[in-house]
Amino acid sequence: MERLLERAYGASQRRKRIKVLINPYGGTGAAQSLYTQYIEPIFAAAQCDIDVERTNYSGHAGEIAKELDLHRWDVVACCSGDGLPYEVFNGLAARSDALRALKRIAVVQLPCGSGNAMCHNLNGTGSPSLAALAVVKGLRTPMDLVSVTQGDKRYLSFLSQSVGIVAESDLGTEHLRWMGAARFTYGFLVRLLRKQAYPCDIAVGVEIDNKQEIRQIYQRERSRTTSPPSTEPQQQQQQQPSTSLGSEDGTDASEGLPPLRYGTINDPLPEKWTLTPYPHLGNFYAGNMAYMAADSNFFQASLPSDGCMDLITISASIPRLAAIKSLLAVENGTFFDQQYVNYRKISGYRIVPRGDKGYVSVDGERVPFRPFQAEVHRGLGTVLSKSGRWYETKPL
Ligand code: ADP
Ligand code: MG
Repeated sequence: MERLLERAYGASQRRKRIKVLINPYGGTGAAQSLYTQYIEPIFAAAQCDIDVERTNYSGHAGEIAKELDLHRWDVVACCSGDGLPYEVFNGLAARSDALRALKRIAVVQLPCGSGNAMCHNLNGTGSPSLAALAVVKGLRTPMDLVSVTQGDKRYLSFLSQSVGIVAESDLGTEHLRWMGAARFTYGFLVRLLRKQAYPCDIAVGVEIDNKQEIRQIYQRERSRTTSPPSTEPQQQQQQQPSTSLGSEDGTDASEGLPPLRYGTINDPLPEKWTLTPYPHLGNFYAGNMAYMAADSNFFQASLPSDGCMDLITISASIPRLAAIKSLLAVENGTFFDQQYVNYRKISGYRIVPRGDKGYVSVDGERVPFRPFQAEVHRGLGTVLSKSGRWYETKPL
């Protein structure tokens, strides 16, 4: 039996202790029944230690994360869309021991909402039962998180930030809800054919701006043969008394979020950055993960903890046919290679949208149409993934 278990789990922690959060409001309102029918039986069969709590209002998941007992749980599993993991990361970040909480607790998402990008990236599926199995066998994986400052607020983004056509097609088409999933594509095409521009001033902390080099680094990471560490830090901890938690990761238990290397949106621009006008900007899209939805692999070179965000910028004045081709390329996995797709690895940026009306999306939620600044923190958060090292995409 031990040999079978060893084969089945490998380096993954067995009998994970999972705090389950269910958003009864997410997606079509089916999260509870999806959980009962497809997820719970798998957690039970794997003898996971489970406690289930339903979120009663928006913001509730964040509050639960803020008060979570770090000794009691290994995983917070969100039966929801991408909204709950966003709240959980930010709830953990709001603690006085934020660093430790983000390192200790693996945040996972089980696909019960309308946007389930996180699950597609890490579990490679949109099926609740297969995702539950992926969580049972998942490897703890550090994941970059992004600090966004806007006004006097600072929050953590785990998925994306966008200004321009993607943000507007997503957030500005509420009146087309009856179209279902086609609303995004329709909204996108209309704007694309109009060659709608979203003028901005942008300063970027560029790490790599050469696609060939980006590809090489990505391929090297995917083909590295070293396997993940055979014993997960989590398992070592469990064998020791839980009082050893404080310093094992080298961080002070009282530490909050890491300081901002580039300051906030209210500080002077970092020395090496230059604010550049983008009068014809069509799309500004910064990603921390590969898929932005099922079959939407925008960020084909994204890696969980390379300490970089991937930035895509596209001009609105490119030929219409090329623009449509780029849109189609997102689904067939050739977006990265499109001629007009400017793809960079970056560590931070500031964007100042012009005008007074428009859309800014952070992790798919609407935030004020005002300047904001972002910077990435390497491996600040923890998730579970199948590989321990990359997102579940076709290799670039
Ligand atoms: P979807 O993918 O369908 O948008 P999410 O799980 O991402 O689903 O959740 C959408 C929003 O629902 C989140 O912003 C969350 O704060 C909110 N929410 C959570 N619990 C409740 C509740 N009981 N009632 C209303 N809204 C809720
Ligand atoms: Mg990254």
